Amino acid sequence: MAALKRVTVPAFAKVNLGLEVLGLREDGHHELRTVFQSVALHDDVALAVGPGDGIALRCDAPGVPADERNLAWRAAADLLRFAGVRRRVRIELTKRIPAAGGLGGGSSNAAAVLLGLDHLLRTGLGTAGLAPLARRLGADVPYFLFGGTALGVARGEEVYPLLRQVDAWLALCFPPVGAGTAAVFRRLDAGLTPRENAPTIFRFVSSDLTAGAYRLLVNDLESAALEEVPELKAQVARIRGVLRSRGALGTLLSGSGSTYYGVFGTAAAAREAARDLGRAGFRAVACRTVTSGRYRRAWQRALTGGGRRAR
Ligand code: ATP
Repeated sequence: MAALKRVTVPAFAKVNLGLEVLGLREDGHHELRTVFQSVALHDDVALAVGPGDGIALRCDAPGVPADERNLAWRAAADLLRFAGVRRRVRIELTKRIPAAGGLGGGSSNAAAVLLGLDHLLRTGLGTAGLAPLARRLGADVPYFLFGGTALGVARGEEVYPLLRQVDAWLALCFPPVGAGTAAVFRRLDAGLTPRENAPTIFRFVSSDLTAGAYRLLVNDLESAALEEVPELKAQVARIRGVLRSRGALGTLLSGSGSTYYGVFGTAAAAREAARDLGRAGFRAVACRTVTSGRYRRAWQRALTGGGRRAR
């Protein structure tokens, strides 16, 4: 078989440090304000390119499509088309980020494919050149080209990396039930009062992003998500109770859920909270936030150490 060029890159999950919905726009999309935050929990995206044609994708998570419905597959197809390049591309996804959990797994995988293929194919687009492709793939995809702590506005696709980066520990909890993103937004729309300002997000980004700041945060999707799945309401009450008993600085739903998390100042407190949640019958992990600097360095390590030639 002809030599393949390959690389394995990390695709980090995100949480939303607060999310405000200002209203419905004329184009039918919601006008959002959020702070995206990368976390150490990540999938691995292995990419190989060689002579020929076609995209092959393997994914170890049952329930995640392994064909052109997969966002990683679509990212590869879009990049090849945009760059006018013919190559055979193999994508292998090792999933750790729970699917449909509000952690941006699919979007992160897509951004990883764009950045990884840009490197392997030497298309030289860089983050600026990849941004329009990322926007077309989904509103959360552009954020994953940068990672770290970043303000997201419009549908979330307009991203402003913050100078001050969060360094904290989270206990992430994955309740077994959740509502789909579309259903949560539909329910929210029924009672949505349009407004022009996003006070909690702007107060948060203008703060020092430490301890007390997390108490400012709210997620406007939370009550709609809990109304949509009444079972989730009782579970979230229990999860929040555990997180608070371990001294969480803030407790929030990520995106439209159903991942619920607590922010902690130390690794020990986050680990104890995750352990308590495990004892209470929930799936939970403790992990550190990832700043934009660490995000970039993780990428650089993967790309410079991963350029091996394979059979
Ligand atoms: P969203 O809020 O956009 O729905 P999410 O962050 O809650 O996203 P994802 O992990 O991105 O959740 O999964 C959303 C859906 O996208 C899943 O139902 C899954 O079938 C589909 N999907 C497509 N590609 C992927 C991928 N590479 N990884 C995970 N899910 C994917």
